[in-house]
Amino acid sequence: MKHRIVTTVLLLGLSAYVVGGEPSRPSWQVNRAVDSTTVNADIRPGDPTVDVGIYYPSNLDESYKEAVPLQGVIAEFQRAKEVFSTAGVQLNLLWVKSAEVDPKHFSIVASNTNNEIPSDGYANMYIEASRNPGALSEAALEAFDALIEEDERNARTVYIMVLQGVYTSYFDTDDNGRNWTPRLVRTGGLSFPSYIHGGNIPDRIRGVITLTRQDSENYRIIAHELGHKLMNVSHEYMEQSPQHEIVGEGGLMLYGAGTDIPSGKEGRWHKERLHLSPYIYRISESGQRITNPDYVEQGFYYDSLYGDKVVHFEGIRLEGEKAKD
Ligand SMILES: [Zn+2]
Repeated sequence: MKHRIVTTVLLLGLSAYVVGGEPSRPSWQVNRAVDSTTVNADIRPGDPTVDVGIYYPSNLDESYKEAVPLQGVIAEFQRAKEVFSTAGVQLNLLWVKSAEVDPKHFSIVASNTNNEIPSDGYANMYIEASRNPGALSEAALEAFDALIEEDERNARTVYIMVLQGVYTSYFDTDDNGRNWTPRLVRTGGLSFPSYIHGGNIPDRIRGVITLTRQDSENYRIIAHELGHKLMNVSHEYMEQSPQHEIVGEGGLMLYGAGTDIPSGKEGRWHKERLHLSPYIYRISESGQRITNPDYVEQGFYYDSLYGDKVVHFEGIRLEGEKAKD
């Protein structure tokens, strides 16, 4: 009898996550701890707007919730609103939702290293990415498909998914390009931008941004990740061409404390690219939603959507580059 009770409890526990082999879909509910009306008090319907939903699982480990509390996430979002308002784009908080989530999704390796290729530097990283787009891991595809609710505006909405550990990989060399080692990096935020993944990320989940840390000094993680997603650029600023990790001051897209979104050719068209983002819409005087056009190809950096709002630059070759004969 005792055994039977235990079994029933186990089955009940499982049924919350697995239903007939289908991905377990959490029963997301609006989290009333956040008043989105107050957060959105600045929204003007005629201005360029991006909708953002925030998912904060309720059963994250308590020690994690202390490190990344919901109010900290909201402070990050408020900071992002300020940063993007300087560039004429307003962030509209659709809702914050919470639910119990299958804990296997709390920590994921997001990228699939099997298909990754080191940079050989003959073309720049944006061109290389369009030739060999980054693939998401099975675990990431499964998690985002299960966690993001179906909606007709999925592909035009940004979803901030608070998780505990999201890891991604890149290749590194310590002998100038002969031997390459895959390195796994723990991310604070990861934006899954189209310039990396192209058609490898399904439209329905392409708006996902994971958040696994909170920057209690600058509150800049969400703003920076939104920069990747909405401007569709890597770590670059003014005359600085992109590389994996570039530390510097001033620009939102460098590693540092900067929040600048520059414009014009010298600003690498950041502001102009932002305003062309398919995630932007505005409400007309008659109350109609007017959404920006979508990517023409698959959303790589040189997608025709951007016209001449692109920068052409050389790839970065290693000095004294070696290869095995
Ligand atoms: Zn970044």
